Parts: sequence; C-alpha cells; structure tokens
Amino acid sequence: MIKLKSDRILVVDDPCFDRHVDVRPHPERPERLDAARDGLRVALGPRGGQRLDAPWAAEEDLVRVHSAAYLQRLEEALASGAGRVDADTYFSAATREAVRRAAGGGVAAVDALTRGKADSAFLLLRPPGHHATADQAMGFCLLNHVAVAAASALAGGAARVAIVDWDVHHGNGTQAIFDRDPRVLFVSLHQWPLYPGTGRWDDVGRGDGRGFSVNVALPPGSDGAAHAHAFRTIVLPRLRRFAPDLILVSAGFDAHQRDPLAQLELDTDTYGAMAGSLLDLGVPTAFFLEGGYDLVALEESVAAVGRALLGERIALPEDRPRDIERDAVARTAAADPIVGGPDDGG
Ligand SMILES: [Zn+2]
Repeated sequence: MIKLKSDRILVVDDPCFDRHVDVRPHPERPERLDAARDGLRVALGPRGGQRLDAPWAAEEDLVRVHSAAYLQRLEEALASGAGRVDADTYFSAATREAVRRAAGGGVAAVDALTRGKADSAFLLLRPPGHHATADQAMGFCLLNHVAVAAASALAGGAARVAIVDWDVHHGNGTQAIFDRDPRVLFVSLHQWPLYPGTGRWDDVGRGDGRGFSVNVALPPGSDGAAHAHAFRTIVLPRLRRFAPDLILVSAGFDAHQRDPLAQLELDTDTYGAMAGSLLDLGVPTAFFLEGGYDLVALEESVAAVGRALLGERIALPEDRPRDIERDAVARTAAADPIVGGPDDGG
C-alpha cells in the first residue's frame, strides 16, 4: 500500500468551534470535536496534514445558498448572545463566529482542492450544517457548510459537484438547496424512518434536478453490509457516471453502532472502507464533519477516514445484506430515473 504524504491532506479547524456551547447538556458538544481531532491526529501524526484555520465566509458565499432574509434573521438572533432557534438548535455568544468560519472553511477547502494545493481535505467543524435549509435553522444546524462549499465550487467554474451524505440522518437542507440543480448530485445513506422525516427512496429531486438526488433509506438495525451493498450497487456507479469535478462528503459518524441517537450498526472499519472507495474515484474530495455523538466511535471512525486519506485501504464489508436491507436498496435503485437504462453498467 502506498502511503501518501500527509502534506497533501488539508485539515481545516479553528479554536472558535469549541466555544459553541449550550447552557445545558446537549449531544452536540465541544468534546465531539476533541474526539475527532484526536482521531485525525492518531491517523496523520501530531503535526500531520496541511493545517488551515477556517477563515470567515464572505456574505457572497452565504447568499448563494441561504436567503438574504434568513441571514438577516440569523444575524439578529446570534447578536442577542445565547438562545435557541428551536428545541434542538442552540446558539451561544461564539456561535456567530463558529458558523461563519465553518462555512468559510468549506469555501477555503474547495479553493485549495480546485487549485491543486491539496488532494483531499478533512474539515473539523462545529456546529454541523446539513439540516440547515435556505431559510431555516434546524437539527443543531444554522448554516449549511457543505452546501455553501458546493455552491462556491460551482461559482468558481466546477461543472459538477457530488455530495455524499453518510450521516445517519437525511441531509434535508442540502437536498432542498440543490433539489432542482442537475450540477449537484446528492447521495444520502440514512436510517428510515428517523429525524427529520425526509429522504424517502422515491425522493429523487425535482425539475431539472430530477434524478440528481439519491436517497438510500435503510431500516433500523442495518449494518455495514447494507452500506457496502448500497455503495457497490448505487453510490459508486452513480458517482462514476456523474463524473464530478469534486466530491464533498457530509461525514457524520452517527450511523456507528455505538451512537446513542440512531439505530444503524456500522463499525469503524466501514467508515474507512467507504472513505477509501470514494477516494479511489480519483476526484478531489473533502470530508465535512457533521453528526456523531459517541466520542469513542467518533475518534475511531475519524481515524479510519484519516488512514484512508493517507492511502490505506480496507475492503468494504462483504456484500451480504439481510433481505430487508437488500429490499431497501432495491427500492432506491428502482426509483432512480437515471440509473436502470440499457447502458447501465456501473
Ligand atoms: Zn446526524
């Protein structure tokens, strides 16, 4: 196995992400980021990776995906110090800086990848972003960082951007933002049913974007074999066919068997295998930290992705899903208006 040089791996982080804190115990807590940092350090070495403090996002970067009215509303709320936008989603005095830098970090990573300054990136971000829609904060998310990054790539000349969302929850915000845009392929693997209740297998995008949202909705109890089956039969063939200039991964780690918020049963190796199989497509790829609420699972799984970034490869789990999982994946394939044609060879 060729070990790649870690200076071709961009690591985006910022101390301000630690200061986004709820006034009461909350699963989306600063210790998560320390666990993720530890995982990446274990994989890349103490000084491994090309380090970048996340810069502030410019207004022009945010308005590509969020409405001006929402940004204004959010700005006013965040200026008030601390509070909640809904029962799940809190903010503190540092949240304004954290979300601006998290979004800006994504833009900077896309810029570095498209200029060839790095081959891959891992973004150690808090809060997560994939539930935030164009005009609504929800599910711990205020700005949609991966969407902001994808939109900046398109604005910078990329023809096609793929977003792979393996967080256990459907990335409803990301899908809604690009629902009608065939330049963005959104592929989500998530537990069904589960919060936020979107991402059914037959939700394939709308208008010109029909066929460019792919939702693999898996039943509770699904393990790595189901993800492996979905990767082999849907995710990887679909990505090859789309031929993206850039792959952005909404990398939540809450589908891990240790995670307290959901009932999928992935193990640590599956994350490394999924990351490796995406990196083997040979496209610049950035991993954005989304959810993941068990600290041990988070550290170990981020380390597994880190080892994949360095070139280490482990095989996807054996392709032996249970019938209920095979059926779930088959429903997604059957609903896809693009795959399934006569030339579908993967
Ligand atoms: Zn999640």
